[in-house]
Amino acid sequence: MATYTPMIQQYLSVKAQAKDAFLFFRLGDFYEMFFDDAILASKELEITLTGREGGVEEKIPMCGVPYHSADNYIYRLIEKGYKVAICEQVEDPAAAKGVVRREIVRVVTPGTVMEGKVVGEVSNNYILCLTEREGVKAVATCDLSTGELYVTSSPSNNKWLRDEVALYDPSEMIGDEILLNWISEQSSSIGKPVVYTAWDKEKEEIARKQFGESAWIRLEPERQQCISLLVGYLSETQKRSLGQLTKISTYEPEQYMILDPFTRRNLELVETVRERSKKGSLLSLLDRTETSMGARLLRRWIDKPLLQKNRIEQRLEAVESLHRDFILREDLKGLLQNIYDLERLTGRIAYGNANGRDMNALKTSIRQAPAIIEACKASSSSTLRFIAEGMDACDDLADLIDRAIADEPPVSVRDGGIIKNGFHEKLDVLREAGVNGKRWIAELEAAERQATGIKSLKIGYNKVFGYYIEVTKSNLSTLPEGRYERKQTLANAERFVTPELKEKETLILEAEEQMVDLEFALFNELRVSIAAEISRLQRLAEQIAEIDVYRSLSAVAADSGFVKPVLTDGFDLVVDQGRHPVVESVMNDSAFISNGTHLSKEEASILLITGPNMAGKSTYMRQVALISILAQMGSFVPAAQAEVPMIDRIFTRIGAADDLIGGQSTFMVEMADIQVMTEKATSRSLIIIDELGRGTSTSEGMAIAQAVIEYVYHHIGCKALVSTHFHELAHLESSLPGLRNYCMAVQESGEKVHFLRKLIPGAADSSYGIYCARLAGLPGDIIDRAYGLLQGFEQAAAATQRTGSVETAATDQGSIPTEVRTEKSNRNEVVQLSIFGDELPAKKSGG
Ligand code: ADP
Repeated sequence: MATYTPMIQQYLSVKAQAKDAFLFFRLGDFYEMFFDDAILASKELEITLTGREGGVEEKIPMCGVPYHSADNYIYRLIEKGYKVAICEQVEDPAAAKGVVRREIVRVVTPGTVMEGKVVGEVSNNYILCLTEREGVKAVATCDLSTGELYVTSSPSNNKWLRDEVALYDPSEMIGDEILLNWISEQSSSIGKPVVYTAWDKEKEEIARKQFGESAWIRLEPERQQCISLLVGYLSETQKRSLGQLTKISTYEPEQYMILDPFTRRNLELVETVRERSKKGSLLSLLDRTETSMGARLLRRWIDKPLLQKNRIEQRLEAVESLHRDFILREDLKGLLQNIYDLERLTGRIAYGNANGRDMNALKTSIRQAPAIIEACKASSSSTLRFIAEGMDACDDLADLIDRAIADEPPVSVRDGGIIKNGFHEKLDVLREAGVNGKRWIAELEAAERQATGIKSLKIGYNKVFGYYIEVTKSNLSTLPEGRYERKQTLANAERFVTPELKEKETLILEAEEQMVDLEFALFNELRVSIAAEISRLQRLAEQIAEIDVYRSLSAVAADSGFVKPVLTDGFDLVVDQGRHPVVESVMNDSAFISNGTHLSKEEASILLITGPNMAGKSTYMRQVALISILAQMGSFVPAAQAEVPMIDRIFTRIGAADDLIGGQSTFMVEMADIQVMTEKATSRSLIIIDELGRGTSTSEGMAIAQAVIEYVYHHIGCKALVSTHFHELAHLESSLPGLRNYCMAVQESGEKVHFLRKLIPGAADSSYGIYCARLAGLPGDIIDRAYGLLQGFEQAAAATQRTGSVETAATDQGSIPTEVRTEKSNRNEVVQLSIFGDELPAKKSGG
């Protein structure tokens, strides 16, 4: 190291503090990278790799990005999962002896990035910390850009952790090595976790001070430890105050309906399985929010449906009242549209990177509050009135910004032009001096033209030479000798200064410099005084977000024909004319066929659903799960009527996500899921299994399917929807009184099979698999041969089964059509079910 130049030595010592990050080393107007950082960054950022003399024989690899456009490069690296440590000069180069002192001022990491494209507007950017203390695992999650901080803990096993992590979908994870490794094995979608276990008293002190003693002592020790570690990491990387972290939201895992990652994915709650896009998910259907914080809150509600009936009812009451009141809904929409991302704005103010425009955006947003409060106070909803009563319109802050910040401030906070006239006396005096100075210059120009008789003479200014008098070459001879001092020669003009111009220039520039400094100081003062009120603004943001979500849910309910569900503490789930909200929304009007659901202790708690592929089985089963989730998050539901019990957990085992899990066979995945289900499900859970038992031999698959169904029935006793292509399992209806056979009705006309998409009692006795194969265009030879073989198999099976034949009775089920004829057609050996004559049932009543 001794042979390197002092600057490179300094670089190396700073780099040693940021081994796992790119070090952006400030040299003049550039951030430079050296050695391996430079080689990798030049590839990742597609910038030129050069070399620099560093005191040793070989040139040191180097690449750099301009200081003013560095953000863009930083975010590109962050998006690729890297960290970037920013190293700045921390002393005035003029005052420095030797190499200017440099320090890391901030480490930007995927989970702590505050700005740029990386932080999606309507989604949170979470960093998550996992710890374990005496067998209790804790999870703390923070979005630094909004100031949210959540913590929970549980003595449960690791699977619980997996569910929590999936819920937040963090961009960065830190904490305990063993836990992080386990989580990484479960999911490849999370970036490289950071083992960060250096918990110490000092970090705990930082956290304790951040949230205050009284909040701190209410936390369990394992939660304190987890938060200390997270806050310790944040303050080490950010190296500044974390003023936006004002409160810790604690919760117990059992407070919410638990949805494991597979279920969340299968039900396409926030993104679709195939494209992993929001479009096509339940979230995108429900999201009619006008503000970013509303959109984020809506997502949190979908992620965590509630279990307490009274809390859900409060939400439903607000949605109902807005659903009835079109005018209020529209009024609120108009007001909410003018609100910027209050959470992130306040986050920036606390963090210290807000500018004048952010202040004005904050002002505009706050200014909407009084009208929102008034509208909610006048509403018929006690939930909305309660929120409005508790709302602080923060008028004083809006007034303060209004007095201080110019109407159209520049982006930069260092170049002046931010503070309004009349806000600060000294600033006004300096401004006046500046204006006077400029007037003086204009007068001087006129006077010089007069004195010299040169009409084209003009006074100009540039950053290098300051003020000058410019005379074209052709007029030079008329310029009197003596008074004019030559300053710069251009192609066809000369520039001069005079002693009096020089003197005035000093005064003008000094005033300008003072003005810019003073404006910056005043802006910072304002920022600090607003930052001191951050909790008030965060509270306001939360309240506005909540109102926004109610409005959004009510608009969706009104436009999509949803109804208010009746919540119960009982067991029965009764839905009349239920629909799958997302499938319905992409269909032409009235194309979606509604189906009822009646799951009860008295009648049936398990429905065994058979029917051909494409008949609508999985759509139906998902629809039942979605109706429960919607109801428990406080939304209206797509049905004519719904009675919904509090469901503590939904398990789904639905085929579509198989391809996402590499390396394991479909069958093993299914079995692992079923294992979790047997361990976790309670009588208040809802189980949904699509095509139970496939992926192994027929007899084994069927055996396992039957055993699982019996286990669910006898040992769990919860509501379950199970679809299977093993029609033979229909006999379970006679041995398990709480199980009923259902099938998706199909109508055959001539060669064609028509899917009626109607759930009817009874078991189907054909899969129409060969028919589907024909639809898919398989050669006629294959189709005919398959029909022939099938007939043979079935005759053989019938011969062995003749001893115990199975009855598939159609039971009367309220809203479910009962006019079902069962006939055997001669060729295809399929059940022809005709309902309502040839007419297809209509979608929703009056819809
Ligand atoms: P299965 O699980 O029986 O193979 P799906 O549930 O995947 O069938 O449904 C197949 C297709 O049928 C869906 O993509 C959807 O377009 C349509 N579909 C399903 N249910 C309905 C319904 N109730 N009304 C109208 N179309 C439906």
